Amino acid sequence: MLKDIEQLISLAKRRGFIFPGSEIYGGLANSWDYGPLGVELKNNIKQAWWRMFVQQRGDMVGIDAALIMNPKVWEASGHLKNFTDPLVECKKCHTRFRVDQISENHAKECGGTLTEAKMFNMMLKTHLGPVEDEASVVYFRPETAQAMFVDFKSVLNATRQRIPVGIAQIGKAFRNEITPGNYIFRTREFEQMEIEYFISPSAKGGWEEQFDYWLEQMKNWMKFLGLKSEHIHFREIPDGERAHYSKRTIDIDYDFPFGTKELYGIAYRADFDLKNHQEFSKEDMNYTDPTTNEKFIPHVIEPTFGVDRSVLAVLVEHYDEEDAPTAEKGETEKRVVLRLPKYLAPIKIAVLPLSKKPELEGISKSIADELRKHFTVNYDETQSIGKRYRRQDEIGTPYCTTVDFDSLDDKKVTVRERDSMKQERITISELTSYFIDKFNS
Ligand code: ATP
Repeated sequence: MLKDIEQLISLAKRRGFIFPGSEIYGGLANSWDYGPLGVELKNNIKQAWWRMFVQQRGDMVGIDAALIMNPKVWEASGHLKNFTDPLVECKKCHTRFRVDQISENHAKECGGTLTEAKMFNMMLKTHLGPVEDEASVVYFRPETAQAMFVDFKSVLNATRQRIPVGIAQIGKAFRNEITPGNYIFRTREFEQMEIEYFISPSAKGGWEEQFDYWLEQMKNWMKFLGLKSEHIHFREIPDGERAHYSKRTIDIDYDFPFGTKELYGIAYRADFDLKNHQEFSKEDMNYTDPTTNEKFIPHVIEPTFGVDRSVLAVLVEHYDEEDAPTAEKGETEKRVVLRLPKYLAPIKIAVLPLSKKPELEGISKSIADELRKHFTVNYDETQSIGKRYRRQDEIGTPYCTTVDFDSLDDKKVTVRERDSMKQERITISELTSYFIDKFNS
């Protein structure tokens, strides 16, 4: 597990997971770009989530809604009034802090006194259309959740799904955070994966049973990401501290290198959202159960997952350093290895010709092209083979395939496994099925 976030920031930049945003212009505070490996890792996480929570279930459907919604949505949801954080400002250096995130360093380094807390709305505002007046003000969505409520009736009409049913969405959200930071942990532009699961208020077992069920599903997901249970903590949010809509919330915290902080959350939102949208839109949000004829506004359990925090937790969890033997007998050197679960690894297989000689290039490239039909492949012919192995270890590539001069005669290559570093000779014509087996096991 990673102890120092700076090590990850440097590896991620060097290898192409995550770059500082707009870097050639001096950057933009707390904005980050996912590079070639980062986008693969992030997509693997999002696709796995979509498969697990949408495609593999009969009671879930997905949507992909517009980022900018009618401003009335945010009036109805309570965000315009309540989506605020208490902000204080240092009277001396004018740095602004969220009250629960005042930096300890600030007291030591500046020592200035702080103003009284003011409430600050975190929605990111812009204007739609050419005229910048009050009538054109719109907001970037601060969560993906509201579209699931706004589209609820359309989804049910279109799919003929019955309650209980869930609607899921993956997409960007924007918050004008007062204190962004800790790398990609808290940014002003981020991605969420959210589920709104609609139930009857008189469901057998009550909402409590559904809440427990979804908490279990979230645990399964974290297991799938390979996050160890001892690094995960469940925090029941007491009365008075929950968001304005929630009757019960559990925050799921993870041991990040900069402290134990929120990774995901689950909330029981009751009928708060649909009821308010009914009131503000005048659209009837009732549902009539076709078997019992019971008419009700559905209640909602909301499991919510941050995409960027998932990426960060996965990188932190699987980062490892060990002493590994070098080519010279008896000597060891530090090996950095990302022990990513195979299905999350951005590059599945590296193809490494032992030398740049043209005899090896042809056969190596054709092996790489063949494997690319099924897997993400990295072809690398620069530097010593030892260095190339280390480079693949650092980015979590589960297998390296080395093509040497013997390959020309025996039509075999050496496959090296990342974690054990064990090597075996595999016949080239059987390579694809060998890897298909490995990745399916
Ligand atoms: P926090 O207390 O850290 O501000 P929150 O409780 O406001 O988070 P939610 O509104 O529950 O967060 O958002 C759901 C999820 O979205 C969070 O669990 C987190 O994974 C992610 N998330 C929220 N805010 C950010 C952000 N600024 N940057 C990155 N991810 C975020």
